[in-house]
Amino acid sequence: MNPKNQKQHLLDFTQDELSKLFLREGIEKYRASQIFDWIYRKRIIDFSAMSNLGKSLRAKLTERFIILQSRIIANKISDDGTQKLLLNFGNDLQIETVLIPAENRLTACISTQSGCPVGCKFCATGRGKFSGNLTAGQIVEQLLQLQIIADEYSRRIDHVVVMGMGEPLLNYDNTIRAVRLINAPTGFNIGARKITVSTVGIPEKIHKLANEQLQLNLAISLHHTVQEKREELIPLAKKYPLEQIISAAEKYFELTHREITLEYLLLKDINITGNDAQRLATIAKRLRANVNLIPYNMTSDSDFKAPTNREIQAFLRQLRNLKVNAHIRTSKGSDIEAACGQLRKAYSKTTSR
Ligand code: SAH
Ligand code: SF4
Repeated sequence: MNPKNQKQHLLDFTQDELSKLFLREGIEKYRASQIFDWIYRKRIIDFSAMSNLGKSLRAKLTERFIILQSRIIANKISDDGTQKLLLNFGNDLQIETVLIPAENRLTACISTQSGCPVGCKFCATGRGKFSGNLTAGQIVEQLLQLQIIADEYSRRIDHVVVMGMGEPLLNYDNTIRAVRLINAPTGFNIGARKITVSTVGIPEKIHKLANEQLQLNLAISLHHTVQEKREELIPLAKKYPLEQIISAAEKYFELTHREITLEYLLLKDINITGNDAQRLATIAKRLRANVNLIPYNMTSDSDFKAPTNREIQAFLRQLRNLKVNAHIRTSKGSDIEAACGQLRKAYSKTTSR
């Protein structure tokens, strides 16, 4: 038992770690593989239903471990099929996780923190309360909750974006551990090339990530190409000069050969002039990066505005004329407040009424 005499979160363990733990306690090693098979292949999340385990072992495991820690507080489905869960892990740790279906892929968008200490001015998560880091098991659990839903449609999650609440590189160890569990053949078995980590840009952590021997996609939330202006949008950016972020991303590309994506929020009157396009193109070319343009998804108590369609198209055209591989990322699930942090906020409003 752990010191607090609490149940341990099974999703925190790799199969190997569980085998070793079992071995020390006189439980046959192969039981770990059976349990992983039940959870990750068959989505059986109740020990008592694991029929190839003996009765006494099932009782022992129930006493000792918990598989799902979270309660589903809200579950919303958008007209476009996007489905968003608000999960509560107890102790104020409330997070959002989203299932995004497309014809040829099923993507899970997962959170790494409850709230976010970066405090971006335009982001509902950043403006809300920061309640803490998630454990690796809690990050993995989001995928399990979403896959249980996907099972109802006989579909399998095949892509993961770490773009929910929180800054993944400020919860580095737990995020990487979760990514490895998601990637493991005995776990979700989702290839690293199908996992994207999105960061506001923490140079030393990008360097560290480059050396993890993982083939992850890296997305950098740039949003502005002028340091002082970027700091106005992203307070934490004061600590991390753009040049350091860009050179860390360059190194990431050199070491992993994975393409970098630059995420660029389109904010009316703030970052969509011709000069902005020029500067963005220079950075994108230096990194051989793709650019994802994200029209701002308006949140209730924010002063920022989305540009008009004409402005969005004009900005895209300028980038393409400069030979940048740029796309507009359409917002999914806007009718269910799917932009990060919005559902938690909407829910805390309805409950506090
Ligand atoms: N903290 C990480 C990952 C989570 S945010 C990061 O910032 O990259 C994921 C993406 O959602 C970021 O690019 C962020 O800028 C964007 N985002 C936040 N609020 C948004 C909004 N209201 N409309 C559109 N995109 C938003
Ligand atoms: Fe945090 Fe990302 Fe939101 Fe900024 S945009 S506050 S880094 S979650």
